[in-house]
Amino acid sequence: MSSSTVITNIATLVTNDPSLGDGPLGLIHDAAVVIDGDRIAWAGTADRAPATDHRVDAGGLAVLPGFVDSHSHLVFAGDRTAEFNARMSGRAYSAGGIRTTVAATRAATDGELEANLTRYLHEALRQGTTTFETKSGYGLTVEDEARALRLAARHTDEVTYLGAHIVSPDYADDPAAYVDLVTGDMLTACAPHARWIDVFCEKGAFDGDQARAILTAGKAAGLHPRIHANQLSYGPGVQLAVELDAASADHCTHLTDADVDALAAGDTVATLLPGAEFSTRAQWPDARRLLDAGVTVALSTDCNPGSSFTSSVPFCIALAVRDMGMTPDEAVWSATAGGAAALRRTDIGRLTPGARADLVLLDAPSHVHLAYRPGVPLVAGVWRRGTREL
Ligand SMILES: [Zn+2]
Repeated sequence: MSSSTVITNIATLVTNDPSLGDGPLGLIHDAAVVIDGDRIAWAGTADRAPATDHRVDAGGLAVLPGFVDSHSHLVFAGDRTAEFNARMSGRAYSAGGIRTTVAATRAATDGELEANLTRYLHEALRQGTTTFETKSGYGLTVEDEARALRLAARHTDEVTYLGAHIVSPDYADDPAAYVDLVTGDMLTACAPHARWIDVFCEKGAFDGDQARAILTAGKAAGLHPRIHANQLSYGPGVQLAVELDAASADHCTHLTDADVDALAAGDTVATLLPGAEFSTRAQWPDARRLLDAGVTVALSTDCNPGSSFTSSVPFCIALAVRDMGMTPDEAVWSATAGGAAALRRTDIGRLTPGARADLVLLDAPSHVHLAYRPGVPLVAGVWRRGTREL
């Protein structure tokens, strides 16, 4: 028999269920939430909370759903400090970019890769992330891609096959042969370990026709598509994502009106990754334009050693509010319910009866402080599947 716990004396409870409270966040003040086993059993005002086995006093702080980081690249070895330092110092730097990480990742043992992955997962947990997606993409051989996915699948259900991150350096003279590998033997080896297939659709990576071939092959193998789209330049990625009913088009920094219209008409979520623009001093994605068009927006870290080495969803929330035109409420929604939508999940990203009991206790009276107090470690408690982990 499972035991029940009430968390009470919550100044602001974010449920993301408009039927439970105010606005899109379903805000309840002077609230309580009841956990039964690994699920949310009840949410409402504290004076109406049902009897439970255990009681936690939130001390007048805020509680919200655990963050859903729907886009990260955490199976890798090495880092790219010198590259970042040169970029931010205005110096030319001609080392290998992603290829540097590919070489380090191939050279690492399983134990080294998993220790690195676990380290970043704990780092993310301390900042309130209770669900994360992560990708392969630094192996680029049949063996190394399958290995990355196998390791990731020990830690999350949201595993993405990204053999099409860049054309493998081993196939620099024959990209078509690499696409054949990604859609052939590599797909066969990787599909059993993954839920998703992704492609970096960009000049210098894979064009629209290659991306379509890769995602179509992935769908035939039972994987669901998502796309790195329109990050560095305008291109076909976003409209291809909608056409293939991808769960998410990720980055969405360079969008035409037709791209925005396509997203608004389809079921594909636009996942914005401001850590990447921050870390490369690039143009911000225009969240306001997407939201005003009715597009569902998710906010994630893109945590990776090259272009966005942050595991902090609160940092991304602060950037989205400061620089991308999002309100604090919208940014918090996008980092919780939005991330869940980008993973086509209804059991996370909300604190509503039946949802998974993934909660964050903030050392602040309201969720707005996530943007109002940037850079401050506000996460004071984390429950995952009903168990307090922090
Ligand atoms: Zn990415």
